[in-house]
Amino acid sequence: VNPIKHATLASYYYGSAPLRRCRNRRLVRAGRAPIMAVAYHRIADDAANAWTTSRNVFRRGVLWLKKNFDLISLEEAQRRIRSETNGRPAVSISFDDGYAINCDWALPFLLEQNIPFTYFVTHGFVSGNDFFPHDWNAGKLFKPNTLAQIKELAAAGVEIGGHSRNHPDIGSIDDEATLVDEVVTSSRDLEDAIGRPVRYFAFPFGQHANLSRRAFELAADAGFEGLVSAYGGYNFPGDDPFHLQRMCVDGPLLRLKNWVTLDPYKQWTIPRYEYRPHGVSPAIAGVETR
Ligand SMILES: [Zn+2]
Repeated sequence: VNPIKHATLASYYYGSAPLRRCRNRRLVRAGRAPIMAVAYHRIADDAANAWTTSRNVFRRGVLWLKKNFDLISLEEAQRRIRSETNGRPAVSISFDDGYAINCDWALPFLLEQNIPFTYFVTHGFVSGNDFFPHDWNAGKLFKPNTLAQIKELAAAGVEIGGHSRNHPDIGSIDDEATLVDEVVTSSRDLEDAIGRPVRYFAFPFGQHANLSRRAFELAADAGFEGLVSAYGGYNFPGDDPFHLQRMCVDGPLLRLKNWVTLDPYKQWTIPRYEYRPHGVSPAIAGVETR
């Protein structure tokens, strides 16, 4: 962590805290409390990279969230968004990629705390012995989860989500067959492998440029319940429940706290990715989604 950046964030966070508290109270009173989704990747104490969070920071973050927010599943998040009213700020926890080390401590900790979470895994890596290309390129040989671990999580009640087959940039795929395979077929294969429905899909990388309008259509047609991005948007009651915007909260605790207390700067500067032709979700517009 860059100490100057961290100090700047700290003064910004604590400086705007009274304003935020006031604003958040107003939203709660109006039934407009945010329904947020956060994404972690890898929980380990080796400080290996920017998407690794230490156990201590993760534990403190989760307990702080538990005290201050409703911790809910993606399904409940969608229900609250759809119902157009939410009286308590809520957070849905998820993980992307599927790192074996998460099973050592972080996931058992969440299960022990009775906190729901969604675990998005890249099918090609949890079913093989390969390393993620973004890790391989950085010389980091982190083990992906095994299918046996994913099955065990599913059996413990964890929602398992799809995160493509090869972890590509979905936004740059022009070929329809590749797109169908990465989004739909890979999730179906994951479903077959674990014997449970895979209802949600997380875009690899998850920034605006990594999303695809066609992928949203394909997923709606294939019966997915929802898709998630990771560029850092907030969800409010009445928003489109089919696309849940998440924020990556790997790293320092302050980053998590800053996000989920509604950073006004981020809220005003990060636009929602619009994939719908006329602002109507395919899932809502009556496209058969089951
Ligand atoms: Zn990923």
